[in-house]
Amino acid sequence: MIPGRPSQGRPGGGPTGAPWPTEANRPAPAAHALPDQPRQSALWADPEPPAQPTPAVPLFRPGDRFGQVAVDLTAEGTDRLFTYLIPPALAPQLVPGQWVRVPFGPRFLAGLYLGQVDQPPEGVKLKPIAGILPELPPVPPRLIELARWTADRFLSTFPAALRLLVPTEARREQVRTQRVLRLLLKSTPAEAIAQAEMLKRAPKQALALRLLAEAGGELTQPELVEKGVDQPVLRTMLQKGILDSTLEDRRRDPFGGEKVEQETPPQLTPEQRTALSAVQQELQAPVGFRQPILLHGVTGAGKTELYLRSIALVADQGKQAICLVPEIALTPQMIHRFRARFGKAVAVLHSALSAGERFDEWQRIRRSEVSIVVGARSAIFAPFENVGLIIIDEEHESSYKQESPAPAYHARAVAIERARLDDALLILGSATPALESYQLAASGNYRLVEMTTRIDDRPLPPVTLIDMREELRAGNRSIFSEGLQAGLERCIQAGNQAMLFLNRRGYNTFILCRDCGEAVQCPNCAVAMTYHMGDRHLACHYCDHHAPLPTTCPNCLSKRIKPMGAGTERVEEELKARYPYLRIARMDVDTTKRKGAHAQILGSFGRREVDVLIGTQMIAKGLDFPDVTLVGIILADTTLNLPDFRASERTFQLITQMAGRAGRGTKRGEVLVQTYQPEADALQAAQHHDFLTFFEGEIESRRQNKYPPFAHLIRLLVSGDSEAETMEAAANLYAFLKKGGFTGEILGPTPAPLAKIKNRYRHHLILKGFDVAQMTAQIRAAFAQGKWSRTKSVNMSVDVDPLSIL
Ligand code: ADP
Ligand code: ZN
Ligand code: ZN
Repeated sequence: MIPGRPSQGRPGGGPTGAPWPTEANRPAPAAHALPDQPRQSALWADPEPPAQPTPAVPLFRPGDRFGQVAVDLTAEGTDRLFTYLIPPALAPQLVPGQWVRVPFGPRFLAGLYLGQVDQPPEGVKLKPIAGILPELPPVPPRLIELARWTADRFLSTFPAALRLLVPTEARREQVRTQRVLRLLLKSTPAEAIAQAEMLKRAPKQALALRLLAEAGGELTQPELVEKGVDQPVLRTMLQKGILDSTLEDRRRDPFGGEKVEQETPPQLTPEQRTALSAVQQELQAPVGFRQPILLHGVTGAGKTELYLRSIALVADQGKQAICLVPEIALTPQMIHRFRARFGKAVAVLHSALSAGERFDEWQRIRRSEVSIVVGARSAIFAPFENVGLIIIDEEHESSYKQESPAPAYHARAVAIERARLDDALLILGSATPALESYQLAASGNYRLVEMTTRIDDRPLPPVTLIDMREELRAGNRSIFSEGLQAGLERCIQAGNQAMLFLNRRGYNTFILCRDCGEAVQCPNCAVAMTYHMGDRHLACHYCDHHAPLPTTCPNCLSKRIKPMGAGTERVEEELKARYPYLRIARMDVDTTKRKGAHAQILGSFGRREVDVLIGTQMIAKGLDFPDVTLVGIILADTTLNLPDFRASERTFQLITQMAGRAGRGTKRGEVLVQTYQPEADALQAAQHHDFLTFFEGEIESRRQNKYPPFAHLIRLLVSGDSEAETMEAAANLYAFLKKGGFTGEILGPTPAPLAKIKNRYRHHLILKGFDVAQMTAQIRAAFAQGKWSRTKSVNMSVDVDPLSIL
């Protein structure tokens, strides 16, 4: 419970006491706190204008001070700032950026104190700030600025963006700093031993004294309890004055106390040396002239080593570094590399940590107990105050984009802004840079640094495309082409390991009726259901609806229904049937639900207890296993045929990344790609490891079709329970934007490609334009003019620069 918070009638607090409102207990807009001139008006929710309060006299006393607070009204979608009285007792501790608790309507909410204002709003009796949130240290001013920028750029409210600055955990009361009692000897260890001799009739007390003496004079209560001294004994000893105690914070350790041997860095290769000197030059550039570096380096070129060296340079200057890694690549292997180099100076932030661990890691960052953070997307908001370097590894990765909740920010865009605010160097690294990034390098905005060879001049593995149409013609209906079978046998006979990749899980990906041609659909979503052999049911991958396998077509009642399309489960089964002696593991959402399963599968593959690892994109990123010589891609077409202008780019990236897992050690690798479209540009380029040719072809098509990077898209997704209402709302939204002064191109409204998910119908508008600042400003202006919809059951979400428009 937060000290100082008024009780809500439930001592000890409960769900009602949460300092941040949840969606379920949103407060009514308050009448007492009149909004200031809004920075921008309300966004989409269009809260009712506050009631005009009756002025009470006198409103203020001379010497009263007023502070502006961004109240956490995220659920209301309001952007207004509110003014409160600053109680004199609070004034000395109150600095801008402090999290405070304020009365709002009938309840108390969290808010960020932004600073004093000279003029209170006229005619309103203000309420005082209730208190400071003690567990949340003040936010550095530049991070407040970053949140403001993020809200503007990605069209969210300011309070929603402020939420990015504190870990979710910190908003829940149960996650707090853990405190433990530390017990201290009052005497020297030698005296304590002597004393213990005299305590013949109190053996437990004697034990406590001996243990404390051996430990040099102090131990925590849990440590003593574990060694057999129970709490009442300790209490007695404290009462008798034999011991002293202090209360201290206890750190939860995400590494479980594991010790890591410090390693000596390897000799840099010539390419790494050249790249590092580019980093050095940019680090030394005068303020405002630091150019971001795009590090385009083939898989296995030693980019991670370059990151480590760059971080060391910055650490030597006494500055801090943030290294973003895709969530999926934040493997124990990866974290180990950072810890082996920097030891205790590293904090990690990722979703596999427990809530308490994450909160403590965040506190370590906030208190500058570490100087390096390695983390997923949200670590870009790490509360460092002197950042010298930001690295984004695999910068093309789509997991850097948040989808929900708002703001739907891209960590790369935020990193560019943060690097500017902090005057830090930004390094974007990838073997397959995003088209957006490479275009910025090609146009001279980024400094391009290339690494074209693998460590020790190991060759990139040859990539062979296998035409599955020919396999069919030759009568092979199996998932495995002749070529892939032969390759697998070669690999295993040579005593090596293989990885097989397929971007679909389950056994069959759909159930087709051969009479009416329909696939069995989820009742809640406009999506075909997938057959899972493991527990013999159909599952929807969007809403998790389960159903038994039907015997007749739900559409026409025909019995001629047939499971079609292979997923990873079926690849596993067919592989087992064909090669019973192989040790096979599968890594996908279904096999990694249990905590620790991910690490366990990779661990056994690394220890060579497994010959073949089958997986979805979970296995495509960052894995470094020297004995893997074969990578097989079961079907490249799954990503190629998505209805998305980035389908080709995604396919190229995925195949290149997957190919990068082969032949990383001293043995030569090979990559076999099965496809029905071997002529596709993305596959041809991937075959030749030819990023540049792919880039040139694809960028031209983007230019012609006015797609990113030559335009910005903003997607407005309208969803509702009723199809008719949703459609109507989307049409209203279109008219609303036009009338509100939006001058850019608007595509739609149309049903989204995923037209129904979880029983919500989905229609969208795609806004297109060149100047994203102008577009977002116009959209804000339009929404400031009134309600866009009067239908309560219809929602809208906004995605600026969406990565998926499904
Ligand atoms: P990338 O991140 O570009 O895919 P890594 O940094 O993972 O490449 O390097 C590939 C492998 O080469 C790793 O096993 C790494 O430890 C090793 N390595 C990197 N740099 C050197 C070097 N200068 N000398 C020897 N080995 C290196
Ligand atoms: Zn049918
Ligand atoms: Zn569903």
